[in-house]
Order: sequence, then C-alpha cells, then structure tokens
Amino acid sequence: MAKKIKRGKKVSKSRKREPAVKQQKPQKVVININKLLSLEEAVKYVVDLSGEKGLEVFKYLIAKGPMEENTLAKKLKFEKANAIRKFLYKLYNKNLVSYTKKKKGAKAWYTYYWKANPERLIFLIKKEYEDEIQQAKKSIDLNKANDFYICETCNRQYELKQALENDFRCANCNGTLVHMETSQVVGEKENRISFLNEKIRKLGEIDNSLPAVTGGKKSKKSRQNKSSKRKRR
Ligand SMILES: [Zn+2]
Repeated sequence: MAKKIKRGKKVSKSRKREPAVKQQKPQKVVININKLLSLEEAVKYVVDLSGEKGLEVFKYLIAKGPMEENTLAKKLKFEKANAIRKFLYKLYNKNLVSYTKKKKGAKAWYTYYWKANPERLIFLIKKEYEDEIQQAKKSIDLNKANDFYICETCNRQYELKQALENDFRCANCNGTLVHMETSQVVGEKENRISFLNEKIRKLGEIDNSLPAVTGGKKSKKSRQNKSSKRKRR
C-alpha cells in the first residue's frame, strides 16, 4: 500500500530542503507533509499546543530543514531569539521539534539548531485516537453489563440501584425514568470506533513507516520493518 510520496510540492520557495534527516544515518522520508498539514486535526493539535505562532515555527522548520535559532527568529520576524524560544519549547515538550547544540569556532557559548519532527505529530494524533477507542470499548462493556435508566425529560442517566431508590423518578427534574436501550448507546460507540479507525488508517497513508500505536510505546528503532504488521483489529 505504500504510495510514492512527493515531498512538499507546494513549498516551492524552499528547493533546498531535505537536510532534515540527513545529519544522522540516512533514513527514508515517507511522510507526505502537504497531506499532513492539510489535516484539520494535525493543525489543531499544533495550535492547541503552541498557538498560531508555534504552528508557523513548526511549518517553517519542516519546509526549511534544521536551522540555527537566531536565523530562525530573524526569518520569522521575532524580535529576538528569546522570543521564539517560548514556542520552540512548547513544541519540544511533545518532541515535535528537537535541537542539537554546537560550538561555533572559539566562542564560549553554544549555538542551537532546531529541526521539526513531523512524524511525531502523526504518532501523537494516532495515540489520541487509540486512547479514545479504548475508552469507547470500556463504555461498551459497561453498557452491556449494566442496566441503565434515563429521564425522559432531561436525559440524565441512572443505574438500576439509583433508579429503584428514587422510585423511578429523576432526582434532577422529577421526570419519569425509563429503561434505556443500551443497544443504541453501544451502536453509537461502535460507530465512533469505526470512524476513529478510519482516521487512523488515513494517518497511516501519510506515514508508512509507523506501525499502529495500539498497546503502548514503540521505540523509534522498531518503526521500520513493521509496516507489514499494520492491520486493523
Ligand atoms: Zn430529569
């Protein structure tokens, strides 16, 4: 299913990007950046984490490759490197960017080079979806195992024990409690799970190097060679 992916067609002003992954051992770039950044949830994740400015920094680093902190600040019209650091650190908290530091010549201080890790963004979003799926599955089990009653007026839900205690009246509005068809709730949750699985599948098309994130952490090293295992359960 691996598609050939052209990187960054749109970002034409940056012909000379790519160096992002060249520093260390060569690694296949399999992320479709344009596709990633066109995903609403991807943009939202970065903005929620670091604001619009943070998104700008993240995108710029993706487009241009690793960049020295001061240069980056200048290019993005921050007054000083200090001002951009706030955003870089927010991104760094989730590992969406990382840095290397080098000494330039005989100077006593370090120069920081930042780079974006877009593959990490895919991982993080997938993880959120996976967590929600787990929650939905729990809720399905709970609903199947218990009897629930619902107020016809305000929709508040009660377990059987509470409903009995309240004489099948709502504690909130005194409305009548009726037995709840859990099949509907379960159906809704199941739909949500399929929806999320579909989202995860789409994310998988953007980055073919990532295995499904079900069941916990994977080390970065184990990413390759695993795409064959990517199956929906
Ligand atoms: Zn009520």
